[in-house]
Order: sequence, then C-alpha cells, then structure tokens
Amino acid sequence: MSCLFSDGSKWQSGCGMFARFGPRIVSVITSDIRSGVEQLGDMIAAASVIVPFTGAGISTECGIPDFRSPGGLWSRHRPIPFDEFVASAEAREEAWRRRFAMEPTFAAAKPGRGHRALASLYKVGKIPAVVTQNIDNLHQLSGFAEDHVVELHGNTTYARCIGCSQAYDLKWVRECFDASGCAPDCTICAEPVKTATISFGQAMPDEAMRRATDLAQQCDLFIAIGSSLVVWPAAGFPMLAKNSGARLVIINNEPTEQDDIADLVIRHDIGETLGPFVGN
Ligand code: NAD
Repeated sequence: MSCLFSDGSKWQSGCGMFARFGPRIVSVITSDIRSGVEQLGDMIAAASVIVPFTGAGISTECGIPDFRSPGGLWSRHRPIPFDEFVASAEAREEAWRRRFAMEPTFAAAKPGRGHRALASLYKVGKIPAVVTQNIDNLHQLSGFAEDHVVELHGNTTYARCIGCSQAYDLKWVRECFDASGCAPDCTICAEPVKTATISFGQAMPDEAMRRATDLAQQCDLFIAIGSSLVVWPAAGFPMLAKNSGARLVIINNEPTEQDDIADLVIRHDIGETLGPFVGN
C-alpha cells in the first residue's frame, strides 16, 4: 500500500456528458489499512446519503474473475462486440459457449465482504441504491431489493431477446442449444436471444443511466469500489458525483485515472477494507 498526497487541480473527461473542470482537490491515498478504514468510517458516519458504485473487483473474492487483472477475462477471451453478435451465428454460438462455461462459477458465487458491508449500510437506510457495472446478481443476493440495484451493464443470470426484450431462463437457452447445436432465437419475434447484459457497442439502458445520474447528483458520499474506471460512460459517475458536491472515495488495489479527484483513495483489498464494517 502506498502513501502520497497529491494536488489534482483539473480534470477533463473524454466524454462530453461529464466533461467539465473540477475544483482544486487534495486527494489522500491512505498509508495503511487501519487509517483507511478509520477515515472511511468517519466519512460514512458523517454522510446522509451514500451511493456505492461497484465494479468487477468487488466480486473477485467471490471467485468471479474481473476483466483486466492478470488471469482476468480479457487475458482469456476477446470480448464479442454487439454488432458481431447480431451479425454472426458463429459469434452467438461462441458467446453462449463462453457463458455456459462460466455457469458453475456464477452459480457458486456468494456475496463477499464488500457486498455484505454495503448491504448492511443499505439496511440501516444510509444507502438508497447501489449503482453497479457488475452483471453477477451478487448485490441482490446480499440483501438489496432488485429495484435498488441499478445495473448499468445488465445481468448475466438470465437472457433477453434483443428485438422485443422478452426474458428467458438460461436453462431454456441451454436446452435449445444442446438440442439444436445453435444459439436460439426468440419464440415471439425470431430475433437473437442474448444474456441480459450490455455488450461493447450496445446502447446503454436509458432508465439505469437516468437513475445512476440522479443518485450521483443527490448523494453526499460516493464510493467507487473495485473498478478500473476506464469503461465509459459508466466511469463518468464518480466525477459527476464529485462535481455535484459529494465527497468521493475510491477503493481499488491499483491506481485509477480518477484518483486525483478523490477525497480518499484506499489502495487495498476490498474485502479487507470493508470486512471490518461487518465484523470480519
Ligand atoms: P475491471 O476488471 O476493469 O477493473 C476491476 C478493478 O478491480 C481492477 O482495477 C482491479 O485491480 C481491481 N480489483 C480486483 N480485485 C480486487 C480486490 N479484491 N480488491 C481491490 N481491488 C480489486 O472491471 P470494471 O471496472 O468493473 O469494468 C469491467 C466491465 O466488465 C464491467 O463493466 C462489467 O460489466 C464487466 N465484468 C463484470 C464482472 C462481474 O459482474 N463480476 C466480472 C468481469 C467483468
């Protein structure tokens, strides 16, 4: 864990929606885990409305690999962009083969210390909803009501038709795939069926983006947890919260491009950082 004080005076994003100059900020990168946990505890106690923003790093201790760490999903597979999925039956079959190969991992995953710490703050009314880039359903399993999980990139535990949005169980997709050897199409409109996730090149969900925008603008503490903060437009929310007056905390075991605008950066393991808030 490193220790430094930095004066990040200006920030300008690459995304027009959030592009603006921020105030002069002194961000603190904690020197040790105990100090980080103490400072975070003080900020949580002082806050009225806390919005967590989570990425794949909160689920690595649950056995689900992230994208960019060594051994992460990108070191194994090139992502299949949305237009390729739509255009190519082979791409659809490959996407479903990958998803079925991951099923034991997703099915076995249970909420980790980070998920449980956020759920405990949700239960006492400090967190109105969690904004997540994750697709693994673990916030719901930790105790958040479905309506209070704002999923920016969808959910991989079920499927949808890309034409009419009809929902399908993965079990049905698997049975069709096994019977025909092909990725199934929608039984209503015959368009392809895909995991209910947002692929690269696919439009972001309007309602989730609107809710995440409202939450980022209305909170007084925004905590980005386990995200490399490089996938846009999702990565714009920490900056939006900061520019709207919230204090910003980043918990991640490696530097992010937004550390300079944060009030507190805890560059450490998420489970070890948030575990003390749920007694482990
Ligand atoms: P990312 O892989 O780009 O970044 C994850 C970050 O978390 C990395 O910086 C990594 O160093 C850090 N990290 C990993 N484990 C950690 C730990 N235990 N403690 C502290 N830090 C840790 O992930 P992202 O920013 O969420 O963006 C990738 C996209 O991939 C997401 O939008 C999501 O849709 C998708 N994805 C989701 C899952 C999931 O649902 N669990 C898994 C992989 C990818």
